[in-house]
Amino acid sequence: MGIKELIEAKYWESIDNGKVRCNLCYRRCIIGKDGTGVCGVRKNVNGKLYTLVYGKLTSANIDPIEKKPLFHFNPGAGVLSISTVGCNFKCRFCCNWVISQMRNIVGRSTTPDEVVDWAIRYGANGISYTYNEPTVFYEFMLDTAKIAKKHGLFNTMVTNGYITPEALKELAPYMDAVTVDFKGSGNIDFYRKFMGVPDPTPIYQTLIEMKRYGIFIEITDLIVPEVGDSMEDLRKLVKWIIENLGDETPFHVLRFHPDYQMIDYPPTPVSTLERAAKIALEEGLKYVYIGNVPGHRLEHTYCPECKALLVRRFGFEILEWNLTENMTCPKCGSKINIKGRRHYGRNIWASLI
Ligand code: SF4
Ligand code: SF4
Repeated sequence: MGIKELIEAKYWESIDNGKVRCNLCYRRCIIGKDGTGVCGVRKNVNGKLYTLVYGKLTSANIDPIEKKPLFHFNPGAGVLSISTVGCNFKCRFCCNWVISQMRNIVGRSTTPDEVVDWAIRYGANGISYTYNEPTVFYEFMLDTAKIAKKHGLFNTMVTNGYITPEALKELAPYMDAVTVDFKGSGNIDFYRKFMGVPDPTPIYQTLIEMKRYGIFIEITDLIVPEVGDSMEDLRKLVKWIIENLGDETPFHVLRFHPDYQMIDYPPTPVSTLERAAKIALEEGLKYVYIGNVPGHRLEHTYCPECKALLVRRFGFEILEWNLTENMTCPKCGSKINIKGRRHYGRNIWASLI
């Protein structure tokens, strides 16, 4: 790709000797001439930082919003889900490693207008920036999100939470909901050894900022057997969520499946996930789910007060919906933390790329 076709990156500064510092994520990479940052998709060309992945999409699918997972935001909606290559983390278990760890710039060239047009044409209710870490394609995400909002679509992102406060500030007015993914309950050694991340602490700051901006938040925690399944760490994470984000924050305990460089590890035993969910509920979280175990009873939403079954799911599908129009429990009248409205008639499953 010639320099003329590249889009200048946002959030960087010159430092000495033609080097630049990227301030898009907390890694704040210092990048020498012709070098790229850890994510592999932001390059220093003649002392300026460029994004290599503007509009270079590796996927564009109409997904159920429940797949993100977002269970409490516009349930039943269809979302156009897009990705590029690259990631600022190096998770050894990444199930999307083919794109996240890809260091060749590939993808179909598109524009933000075209993406929004696809979403409208295929009847999606919103756009989701996902699969690889969307922070690394920030410029395209921001431009697309702005246009999407003008057309009445919502925006969501699935993120590892490493975006800097300055970049989040500009994005926040256009971002309606986020899924923030923890792995191994945020254990520092796990992040260092299995994800190539020196310090997960900034993720907590990101979450506090997101809440302050009024973005709807759901949290996942991938429990990795043997190396990332400490119940003590999980309890700590849950306590932090309750204290800082509130006990109504939906929390998904996710099952690990062997992938990428961790194919020798077993899937997480369901009993471990159930223990984790029990701790989260005991500590006081109101909406706790078990993910990646289709058919489990903790795929459903129950009323935190009277325990009535409110939403029955199988995988990403809603099989039964018992809430009132005002999102209250029909039995005891409790208000349930669901934002947006229930969407019906989602029947399009499409892969556009
Ligand atoms: S976005 Fe990429 S280049 Fe920028 S700081 Fe993060 S890893 Fe480094
Ligand atoms: S942060 Fe997500 S996309 Fe990136 S390597 Fe880890 S699991 Fe994969």
